[in-house]
Amino acid sequence: MSGHLAIVGLGPGDARYLTAEAVEVLAVAQALYGYGPYLDRVPIRPGQSRHASDNREERARAAAALVHAAQGARVAVVSGGDPGVFAMAAAICEEIESGAESWRALDITVVPGITAMLAVAARIGAPLGHDFCALSLSDNLKPWELIERRLDAAAGAGFVLALYNPVSRARPWQFAAAIDRLRRHLPPSTPVVFGRAVGRPDEQVSVVTLDATDATQADMATLVIVGSRETRVIERPGGSPLVYTSRAVAEVSA
Ligand code: SAH
Repeated sequence: MSGHLAIVGLGPGDARYLTAEAVEVLAVAQALYGYGPYLDRVPIRPGQSRHASDNREERARAAAALVHAAQGARVAVVSGGDPGVFAMAAAICEEIESGAESWRALDITVVPGITAMLAVAARIGAPLGHDFCALSLSDNLKPWELIERRLDAAAGAGFVLALYNPVSRARPWQFAAAIDRLRRHLPPSTPVVFGRAVGRPDEQVSVVTLDATDATQADMATLVIVGSRETRVIERPGGSPLVYTSRAVAEVSA
């Protein structure tokens, strides 16, 4: 028996954002692997084993899940949001590429989930309504100089930016440096959206301008969207503002 490995996105936190496919796949799994707080979101089922590991142990978790699946089990690895966005699906592919030949014969399914940038964007309007790109600010797996180059290229080319992993305990200064970098390219009035713990009880979403952006506003559970020259804020009486990126781009800016 070749074994099954499902890599399952749980969405940003709200149970209503879990897809029907994810619910089905989780229900038939014999073993679940993942970061502890994500596993805690999956209802307990008798006979299903759980293997929680630390956030930073993605490669080891991927290898353990592959070994288990290769023994013939039905294994599910869970990720917050979408498993293919800065998460476990790529970690598992890395292990398969460099690992045992038998891992390539496994039945592998990737179950998509609602990624953080889509959940945050939906809360505030349509900031990703036109061309955008997503960047992880984590320099654990790539040099900081490359991140700066990508920030320059993306902001310089007029993309809206969705910034994942703005801060962590081990990376205290990177987000402030990224904001400083973006100020070289973008007007001070550029809208910046902070979406924290979206879909969870402690959710907070706010909008500021780039010149008023305080880097201490972001933490590990925050997704930041930095607008482009086409991103606008519509104030509404008695309601929260709508932030959107217009689909019409009038001119190529320098
Ligand atoms: N696979 C995940 C992303 C993992 S990287 C996804 O698709 O959403 C972890 C980063 O995602 C965090 O640092 C934060 O920037 C963002 N994030 C994850 N869940 C979030 C949530 N509920 N609200 C806001 N941002 C979130």
